[in-house]
Amino acid sequence: MSDRFKAILVSRDEDKKQSVDIVELSENDLMDGDVTVAVEATTVNYKDGLAITGAAPVIRRWPLVPGIDLAGTVVSSENSAWKAGGKVILNGWGVGETHYGAYAGRARVKGDWLVALPAGLTARDAMAVGTAGYTAMLCVMALERHGITPARGPVVVTGAAGGVGSVAISILSKLGYHVIASTGRPDQAQYLKELGAADIIERQELEAPAKPLGKERWAGGVDAVGSHTLANVLSMTAYGGAVAACGLAGGMDLPTSVAPFILRGVSLLGIDSVMAPKEIRTEAWRRIAEDLDMAKLAALSTTIGFDGIVDAARDIVEGKIRGRVVVEM
Ligand code: NDP
Repeated sequence: MSDRFKAILVSRDEDKKQSVDIVELSENDLMDGDVTVAVEATTVNYKDGLAITGAAPVIRRWPLVPGIDLAGTVVSSENSAWKAGGKVILNGWGVGETHYGAYAGRARVKGDWLVALPAGLTARDAMAVGTAGYTAMLCVMALERHGITPARGPVVVTGAAGGVGSVAISILSKLGYHVIASTGRPDQAQYLKELGAADIIERQELEAPAKPLGKERWAGGVDAVGSHTLANVLSMTAYGGAVAACGLAGGMDLPTSVAPFILRGVSLLGIDSVMAPKEIRTEAWRRIAEDLDMAKLAALSTTIGFDGIVDAARDIVEGKIRGRVVVEM
């Protein structure tokens, strides 16, 4: 068998104009690392969309194989933690940003970046979850640590029909929370209800500049949108509540005031998946295997092949993707 495999390579010219090509690489072309993985499944996250389209400076080393998430089988390892044949997942750590990523038949990475595929999940399942779903679980765990139980009241999820949002709704509803889903796609109301949303609100309700304090509508939230949306979510959070902020689909800014924090004791919980320590990742993946309904995961994910990655990257940046996209290699 030839050791050559297909890969997506993003390059840029002297004028910093970006181009995307499908190329053939061999293991000799890969970057340094102590574990080589045969990539069996990957996915297209919002960040991958930004990387491939060049809409934001995600790629910081040129040329680069993008793709921040992969699941596959260890082919060879010089790291005592991993043996050939082991099933692994990788999310983040700069892979697909500064280190050759998932959109290739093989990836060579640091063994310390890998998490074992939890029992009961396939490589495809893990990529239906992907960074978006693992981040949704980090948000849920942060709310739990803050004492936001289902008994405290409803929880709002913004960017509901996207990847983080869809997985967050599925997990929160299985855990017994009353989930309010905020979406700009009201035609997806039935989909969101099937995932477990109890109420749907229109994105517009949270898009105008926020008042310092609004009516207390929820005990907590998972926010994938940022900007005015997050400001409104904070101003409508009940006394002592908390909001996990993980995304910027609506903007990087946060035009809020200190009122929710100092007058209602509301907490803003920052969530980063990329550099999250290994213990937290392992716990998040254990919880995903336990608390995510596999029928809902199937309902929120669609499957494409390697050749569909570039189109899906464009679509996700334009807000056209529903739920999660799995790439079967
Ligand atoms: P998706 O594109 O799948 O979902 C984003 C959703 O946000 C869309 O589906 C849409 O939901 C909503 N949305 C899109 N554009 C706007 C807008 N202009 N104003 C308001 N809402 C908008 O992305 P993901 O779910 O994968 O990621 C969501 C965010 O989280 C991204 O910003 C991503 O970069 C970030 N992220 C951060 C991580 C971290 O470690 N902190 C990890 C993973 C993701 P709807 O149609 O329902 O309104």
